[in-house]
Amino acid sequence: MSITVMRQVRFCAGHRLLNHEGKCANLHGHNYIVEFHVTGNDVDELGRVVDFAVINKLFKGWIDENWDHGFILWDQDDNAINALEQVTPNRIYQLPYNPTAENMARYLMREIGPRLIETIKGYDLKLSKVVVWETEKSSATVTCDVSRESADARLQFTNATRSFN
Ligand SMILES: [Zn+2]
Repeated sequence: MSITVMRQVRFCAGHRLLNHEGKCANLHGHNYIVEFHVTGNDVDELGRVVDFAVINKLFKGWIDENWDHGFILWDQDDNAINALEQVTPNRIYQLPYNPTAENMARYLMREIGPRLIETIKGYDLKLSKVVVWETEKSSATVTCDVSRESADARLQFTNATRSFN
């Protein structure tokens, strides 16, 4: 059995999509909503997968420090980065790919989520889904197959055991 809880984090940021065919090539901004879905296999003695405040502190904390009221740009986008660096103060966050909703969700899932989740001691939790809402009509979802991951872990264990025999 698995149980999933979700916390929304809202923030404002600017970006642009390098080489976009239309208006998204211009610097512009969004009121983003990110859903962080956290999955556990059990509840604690109070009946929680994990306290919502704990997830909020971790993920909203990271977003507030890194993305909120900043510009999220592809690290290849020298033109925009150089221009924005002329402004003081500035907050520029460079991604290894274009800052689409898909890539932002992927980045949170792969690069940020695991190390934040690890800091929650005493719980066996996985970040199982990240949804980035760019507008109220447009979102991108990245999911991690939690059951498959534990199956892979079991498989690795089996292979390791076999190699000792
Ligand atoms: Zn946009």
